Amino acid sequence: MASIAGVSVPVVPSHWRVLAVAIGCGIVAALVILWFVGLPIVAAGFAAATLVITGVLIAARLLFPRKDVRSGEPDWTVANAIAAVASDAVALTDRAGRLACANDRYDQLFRGYPTPPNLPIDAGDTERLGSAGRTAWRDGEATASVVAGGTRVDVTIHRIGDTMLLWRFAARDSADVVTTAIELLSGPQGDRLGEAGIMAALLSPDGRVRIANRVLRMRAMGHDEGAIEGRDFARFLITDAGGMVRFEREGLSGNPLRVVEIPLLESHDAPMLIALLDEEVPIPVPAIGSSAASHVRSLVALMPVPLALVDRDGRFVHMNDAFQRAASIDAAAPPLYPGDLVVREDKGALADAIRRFAGGGGYATQLAVRFNEKPDEAVHISLTGARGLGDAAVLMGIKGNSEEGRLKNQVAQATKMQAVGQLAGGVAHDFNNILTAIIGHCDLMLMRHTPGDSDYDDIQQIKTNSNRAAGLTRQLLAFSRQQTLRPQVLQLPDVISEVSNLLKRLLGETLELVVQHGRNLGPVRADPGQLEQVVVNLAVNARDAMLSSHPNGGGVLTIETRSVTAADVRRLKNDILPAGDYTALRISDTGTGIPADVLPKIFEPFFTTKEVGKGTGLGLSTVYGIVKQSGGYIFAENIPKAGALFTIYLPVHSSAAGAVTQKVPPKPKSGETWGSGTILLVEDEDMVRAVAERALTRQGYTVRTAENGEVALEVLGDGPAPDLLISDVVMPTMDGPTMARRVRARFPQVPILFMSGYAEEQLRKSIDLDNVAFLPKPFSVQQLAEAARDALATK
Ligand code: ADP
Repeated sequence: MASIAGVSVPVVPSHWRVLAVAIGCGIVAALVILWFVGLPIVAAGFAAATLVITGVLIAARLLFPRKDVRSGEPDWTVANAIAAVASDAVALTDRAGRLACANDRYDQLFRGYPTPPNLPIDAGDTERLGSAGRTAWRDGEATASVVAGGTRVDVTIHRIGDTMLLWRFAARDSADVVTTAIELLSGPQGDRLGEAGIMAALLSPDGRVRIANRVLRMRAMGHDEGAIEGRDFARFLITDAGGMVRFEREGLSGNPLRVVEIPLLESHDAPMLIALLDEEVPIPVPAIGSSAASHVRSLVALMPVPLALVDRDGRFVHMNDAFQRAASIDAAAPPLYPGDLVVREDKGALADAIRRFAGGGGYATQLAVRFNEKPDEAVHISLTGARGLGDAAVLMGIKGNSEEGRLKNQVAQATKMQAVGQLAGGVAHDFNNILTAIIGHCDLMLMRHTPGDSDYDDIQQIKTNSNRAAGLTRQLLAFSRQQTLRPQVLQLPDVISEVSNLLKRLLGETLELVVQHGRNLGPVRADPGQLEQVVVNLAVNARDAMLSSHPNGGGVLTIETRSVTAADVRRLKNDILPAGDYTALRISDTGTGIPADVLPKIFEPFFTTKEVGKGTGLGLSTVYGIVKQSGGYIFAENIPKAGALFTIYLPVHSSAAGAVTQKVPPKPKSGETWGSGTILLVEDEDMVRAVAERALTRQGYTVRTAENGEVALEVLGDGPAPDLLISDVVMPTMDGPTMARRVRARFPQVPILFMSGYAEEQLRKSIDLDNVAFLPKPFSVQQLAEAARDALATK
C-alpha cells in the first residue's frame, strides 16, 4: 500500500463537458437572436458557427496540448498508485525540496520518511546525493550510488516537468553480490588476494567452480591456463588420516591448508565463497605419510618448552620453535632423524631409546646427550611414548638448557657443594682431634728431649708434618665454611698491596702483574688473612694456566677492584647475585681459559685437572668457602680469546649494619705459662683429654677430667668451684655450653675456655654465654697453656 506524504485530490475537467456547455451556450444565443431578429436562418447559422468553433478549439487543444498549461496540483492518487507497485524505494520531492510522496520500500530502507538528500547515510554520500539532485534539476536526470543500512544502493533521479524530482533507490540484490565476488576473484583483485596468501574460489551450489583466483588455479592444477570453471572443487583436495587438508596435486607432503567457507547469501542453494590458507608449519614435514593430528601440532607449537614429535620410524613429524632454538636447528634444512642432532657417540643410544618407545615400550625416560652444535654441554632429552597422537609415536623434549633447567642445575650444584662441605667439615673436625693428640704428644716428648738428642729431630719431623696436615684441615674447614674467621672492616686495595710482593715472587720474571683500583670503593668486612689466601690461590691457578699455554713465559695477571652499585647489579641480570652495593675483585689471566666441561666443577673440593702431585683440588674450594663465609659471591668465566676471569663480589659494609664489632683476641703473651689452681677438663675424645691433662698438669695445675657434660657435673658434686673450666663444645649426652651454663648458675665467676675442631663462628650461636674464651683445635701444648693462663687472668 502506498503512503502519501502530500494531500490534495483535484479532478481534471473533461473536454466533453466543455463541449456540452458550449452547445448549451450556442442554443441559448441562437434563441436570443431569433427573438430579436426573428430570422430563424440567422439564429441557426449562429448556433452552428458556435458549435464548429467550440469543436475546433477542443480538437486543437487535444491535438496541440499547451505546454505551459498550469495543471495546478498533481493527482497524488495516481502518484501513490504508481509508487506502490514499484519494487524500488521511490520518493517525489517538489521544487522547495519537500517530500511530497514516498512508498513503503522507502520507509523500510530509510526507517521513515527523511527527505532526500538528507538520508541516514554518511556525510560524503549525502553530499553526492545532493549534487546529483541539483544535476537532475538542471539536466532532467542524474545517478548516484550510496550505502544505506550496509547495502549499496544505486540512485536515479528524474525531473518531472519543472516541479518535481522522482528519486528511485535500487538496493543491489544478491545477484550483485555474486557479480561482485566474481569481479573480486578474476583479474587484478584476485591476484592481490593471492599475494596476501589467500586462495579463493566461488563455488556454485553443486560444488563446481564458477571462478577461482590465479594462485588457486596454479596450486590446484599446476598452471593457470585452461579452465577450472565447471570442475568439481572437491576433486582438487585430499584429506589425510589426521584430518589435514592438502591439494591433491601436492600430495601428503604438501603444505596443509586451512579451508574457510564463506556463505555469501543466507539461502542454502546460494553460491559459496571458499578461501584456502596455508597452515603455519614451522618446518616442512620431512617424511611422507608422517603427520600428527592438527590439534596436537598446534598444541606442541604453542608450548614454550622444547618439544618434538617423532613417528614410529624414528623420523621427526613436527618440532616447535623452542625445540629448534634449543637444538640450534636451521629451519630451512631441518634434520630428518633425532640422531642427526647429536654427536656420534650419542647417536646409537638415542636411536635405541626412540625405537623402544616407538615400539610401545615404557612411558618416560631421560637421556643425557650432546648436540653437534655444543659438544661440550650435556643436555637431557626426555622421551615419552605417545598414544593417540596420529602418526606421532614419541614425544621428545629437551631439558637442561631452558631457564628452569639452568636454575635447577644451579640449585643442585649449590646443594652438592653444601653436602660436600658438611662432609669435609666433619672429616676436618675428626682430623683436628687426632692432630691435637699427635701434636700434643710430640710437644710432651720434646719437653723430655733436648736438641741434638737422637729422637729430637724425628719428633720435630712428626710435629712439622702434623702442622702441614693441620693446614690442610684448615683449608677443608674453609671450604665447609667452618673455619674461625677474624673479620675486620677493610678496603680491598689494602689487602692487594699486602700480597702484591708475594704475588710478584709467585709470578716470576716472565709473567706480569697489573693492578687497577676503581674509585669510590666501599669498605668490606672480611678476614684480611683469608682474603689474602683467596688472592694467592687465584693467582697460583692463573700462573699455572698461563705457563701451560705459554711455557716460555709471557702473560699478564690483572687484578682489578671496582665499585658495583645496586643499579649495576640489576643491569647484570644475574639470578644469583642479590641487588645491593658491592666491592668487586676481578682477577683475570691470559692463560688457557677453563674448558666448558670443567667450568661447573672447579669449585668442588679435590677437583683438579693438574697432574698427580701438582694439584690438590682444594685451591678454588677454599676460595669459594672463604668468599661464602664472608657473605660474598664468586663467579668464574672465560674471556673470549683470553684466559679465565674470576669475579668476587663482597657486600659493602655499612657501619649501621655492622653493629657487631669483632672482639680482637688478645695477642698470646709469651713468657711464663706456669700456674696453679684446679682445672675441670671436659673432653669426649680420650686422646685429646689425655694429652691436655698431661700438658696442664705439667704446667702446675690440678686437673680433674670428665668425658662429657653430665660426668663433669657429677665430678663437681657439692664441692667448691674450679678455678677454670676447659671444655669441648660438641659432646654426647650433654654438650659443653649446656654444662657450662649449669656451672655458671652455681658459680657465676668461674672462667670458661672452650676448645673445638669446629669454627668459633659456627659455635657462637650455641655458646650464648658471656666472658668465654675459645681455643681452636689442633693446638700445641704451649698454646693450651697460654690460653689457660689468659682465661685465669680474667677471673
Ligand atoms: P688445583 O689448582 O689444585 O687443581 P683448584 O681448586 O685450585 O685446584 O682448581 C681446580 C681446577 O680449576 C684446576 O685444576 C684447573 O683445571 C681449573 N682452573 C682454576 N683456575 C684456572 C685458571 N685461571 N685457568 C684455567 N683453569 C683454571
